Amino acid sequence: NSNRGHVAHADAITSNSIAHADANTSKKKKVVVLGTGWAGMSFLKNLNNSTYDVKVVSPRNFFVFTPLLPSVTCGKVEARSIVEPIRNIIRKKNINVSYCEAECIKIDPASKKIYCRAARATLNTNSKQGEEFEVDYDYLIIAVGAQVNTFNTPGVEGNCHFLKEIEDAQKIRKNVIESFEKASLPNLSEEERKKILHFVVVGGGPTGVEFSGELRDFVNEDVLKLYPTVQHLVKITVIEATDHILNMFDKRITKFAESKFLRDDIDVKLGSMVTKITENEISTKAKGSDKTTSTPYGMVLWSTGIGQRPLIKDFMKQIGQGNRRALATDEWLRVEGCDNVYALGDCATINQRKVVEDIAEIFKRADKDNSGTLTVKKFTDIMDDVIARYPQVKLYMKSKRVRNFVDILTEAKGNAAKETIELSIEEFKTALSVVDSKMKNLPATAQVANQQGAYLAKCFNRMEECEKNPEGPPRFRGTGRHRFHPFRYRHLGQFAPLGGEKTAAQLPGDWVSIGHSSQWLWYSIYASKLADKSIGGVGLDTAFYLWEGRQWNL
Ligand code: FAD
Ligand code: MG
Ligand code: MG
Ligand code: MG
Ligand code: MG
Repeated sequence: NSNRGHVAHADAITSNSIAHADANTSKKKKVVVLGTGWAGMSFLKNLNNSTYDVKVVSPRNFFVFTPLLPSVTCGKVEARSIVEPIRNIIRKKNINVSYCEAECIKIDPASKKIYCRAARATLNTNSKQGEEFEVDYDYLIIAVGAQVNTFNTPGVEGNCHFLKEIEDAQKIRKNVIESFEKASLPNLSEEERKKILHFVVVGGGPTGVEFSGELRDFVNEDVLKLYPTVQHLVKITVIEATDHILNMFDKRITKFAESKFLRDDIDVKLGSMVTKITENEISTKAKGSDKTTSTPYGMVLWSTGIGQRPLIKDFMKQIGQGNRRALATDEWLRVEGCDNVYALGDCATINQRKVVEDIAEIFKRADKDNSGTLTVKKFTDIMDDVIARYPQVKLYMKSKRVRNFVDILTEAKGNAAKETIELSIEEFKTALSVVDSKMKNLPATAQVANQQGAYLAKCFNRMEECEKNPEGPPRFRGTGRHRFHPFRYRHLGQFAPLGGEKTAAQLPGDWVSIGHSSQWLWYSIYASKLADKSIGGVGLDTAFYLWEGRQWNL
């Protein structure tokens, strides 16, 4: 063991304290974390194994509680309330963590090295760009998030606002106020005022919808008092390419949101694609029509979904994933085709293995006496293992409201009595093939990123134990290469604040809540769920602060 040899050698020269210190640090595995967003910070907050030397690299030296970002755009929440400095987070850790304010510009998995550029010019003050440097790693955690996707629509870059970062929210806030000041100047025609006060939101997802709600609140409350002469000229338009806004939510929520927007006089244009944006006009095309309509606008927020950052695109090409949409990992969040590189959050997607791919192996494991058929007893014995390895089984059970694995099989057998069931491998395969059809990519949400960070930290906390005992905990013994159970997502619900203290909430167990109290629910759920140790405590301080702050304001 070369590592042990190195330590022994260092021990022999302990009189040299520097060499000793060197040996001590070289014993520690170097963990490099890219990003200070939900995924990266959740990992960091949950990591408590002092055998690592951790380095965080991110151009942003603070964490942002993104769910409240839309509330910053119109001044309901102050920007400083929803950020947490990374130095504060590090200070509270009792393990060795350092931070570099820099951007990773290239990953070299062959030499286990990353190339970085400081976020600002350091030594050469004439240079606009920061200095470049290299960092070695033993384990690399990629959590750089994603960027706004413009779908290469002409004119988006340069004419639209985005809403991803604190600076974006602050810029929007400034621009909203400026619009009202401009529209209040005496030398303008009514048409010109209307143009300036036409706010367009492209994309009817949660961010676009929340911003529209915030803006409507702002117009109804503050503008009415501050700019009473122009309030009636305001127009808010939401442009959505599909048939509904909030289409990832339950239909009841979509309907409620659409009718609330109608009452609020927010113009929702469904089935409408933006084709071009110029300095003064936005062009759209209705679905199935060739006619383009151009409308004057004052301000546009572009929020149509996410795309990968150049760093990730380059890395994917490098490791033969060039044709994918996001960096693929296995269910343990290990990047496919790379050793000791992990990826999580918005930059990555889990390539979930299908049950049918392993059907022969599962069958063999269940059929302990090699009889060639499975009975209920035989497959209930391995049920937990199967569910742990293939989370789509659980998902399928939930969606079909079946109680357990056995029900899936009895159903496939034409609802035969349980005691009489005997399945051949072919029948077993047919029964389980429907399960894979329920597989979906996890959404790009803070909830997923947060849980993935906490999960990965747990794996790292137990790394040593797992290396000593590569078969893993007894429950997974026999599954060979798997040292930890795969990542499992726990859906805690979704929230869509709609403005006017109205929030739609969709919680697990088909529970939909819409109305006045939902806003409270939203804050309290964030606060309490984030406090749940099994999920991780990222943003907890912020969430509590805001939640209490809210109560206080009332
Ligand atoms: P991020 O949180 O984006 O973090 C990425 C980090 O990587 C940042 O610190 C960034 O500076 C850093 N970085 C970027 N490039 C590099 C580089 N080259 N090298 C090193 N570091 C780099 N989700 C919910 O679940 N609920 C909500 O209510 C909700 N509301 C949202 C509202 C808005 C306005 C937005 C924009 C998002 C919202 N989301 C919500 C989604 C959620 O914020 C994301 O899914 C989540 O932030 C993803 O976490 P992440 O760590 O992957 O990326
Ligand atoms: Mg992150
Ligand atoms: Mg974030
Ligand atoms: Mg949100
Ligand atoms: Mg993801």
